[in-house]
Amino acid sequence: MKPQILQNISLKPYNTFGIDCTAKNFIEVKTVDELLEVLKLVEQEKFPSIFILGGGSNILFLNDFDGLVIKNSIKGIEKVNNTENEENITLYVGAGEKWHQFVLFCLENNYGGIENLSLIPGTVGAAPMQNIGAYGVEICNVVERVKVIDRKTKEIKWIINDECQFGYRSSIFKHQAKDKYIIIGVEFRLTKKNHILNTSYGAIQDFLYSEDTLNLNTNQIPSINQISKAVIAIRESKLPNPKEIGNGGSFFKNPEIPSNQFEELKKEFPTIVGYAVSDEITKVPAGWLIEQCGWKGKIVGNTGAHKNQALVLVNYGDAKGEEIWNLAKEIQKSVFDKFGLNIEPEINIVG
Ligand SMILES: Cc1cc2nc3c(=O)[nH]c(=O)nc-3n(C[C@H](O)[C@H](O)[C@H](O)COP(=O)(O)OP(=O)(O)OC[C@H]3O[C@@H](n4cnc5c(N)ncnc54)[C@H](O)[C@@H]3O)c2cc1C
Repeated sequence: MKPQILQNISLKPYNTFGIDCTAKNFIEVKTVDELLEVLKLVEQEKFPSIFILGGGSNILFLNDFDGLVIKNSIKGIEKVNNTENEENITLYVGAGEKWHQFVLFCLENNYGGIENLSLIPGTVGAAPMQNIGAYGVEICNVVERVKVIDRKTKEIKWIINDECQFGYRSSIFKHQAKDKYIIIGVEFRLTKKNHILNTSYGAIQDFLYSEDTLNLNTNQIPSINQISKAVIAIRESKLPNPKEIGNGGSFFKNPEIPSNQFEELKKEFPTIVGYAVSDEITKVPAGWLIEQCGWKGKIVGNTGAHKNQALVLVNYGDAKGEEIWNLAKEIQKSVFDKFGLNIEPEINIVG
């Protein structure tokens, strides 16, 4: 059956910034076969461009979209045959599964590895794009391989972890192979016992061991469920919920700079914060830089930098994508003028 493409669909419910723009053509696919049919049609109809949409939590639409938006809703979570032993299991997850639902599934089954990534919005298929990460864990720690369709040849193939070129908020899918593949599923290798826990963040420690919250004994090892609870509580306390205020999470990446440049900056700005990535590289929190330029809580028309986290740009009303992008560029410029540092967007700008 020929795929039924819808026309002139509002994308407002499909992006967490809540930008009200229109897709000239739109289709949701629920199976790999449906996706292959749509790709065949794309060849015949010659759309000016196609855009693969997950949960819309890492994109900023600047204009109406003239081409075809393909919403990936391919679902399913399965054990991969002959991969389970006492310690580990491998799961194959459809790209359209919601990420946090998958985290909850793992917690229910006591599969460890992604508890620190609780409550990140979006889909499983988009997670390898920018190697999602939070609280000391990145998805590259648990991805075994990624199943893709080559957009041109329609060939289905696997990209193993080593080939994904995972880095800080980056991967081959976001850079070298941008627009080459559609991710249809991801295989994860998870632990069933002897979970590798990461509780090094102060806020996680506080939640686990404070009297007001979980009040564990300091010698007690937390469960993956308890770590997830901590992460959820921290995220809910500091990040605006996109259902209440439109946003796309962190707008910018934290710049990674040579450590000697960081030492120079420290002479001029003694309170500057930095985390060593290696002996030569230091990561500087973009939120701190933006805050120092006076943006935290500032409202500009329908947009602004959030009052609790300056790194999160928000849509307070009916902001256009362009308005948010203009604010982002002003922020970039002021950070560059004050610190000489370039902050790059983490968000995908669709223009
Ligand atoms: C409140 C909030 C908090 C956030 N916190 C974090 C965080 O802690 N850590 C973090 O890393 N990120 C965070 N994010 C960013 C975002 O949640 C992640 O990047 C997420 O993986 C995006 O998934 P998505 O399905 O919404 O992708 P979308 O926004 O729909 O798409 C993002 C990009 O991936 C492409 N894409 C999507 N699906 C596919 C596919 N199947 N195949 C090929 N390309 C595809 C799109 O074309 C687009 O370029 C946060 C966002 C919000 C709104």
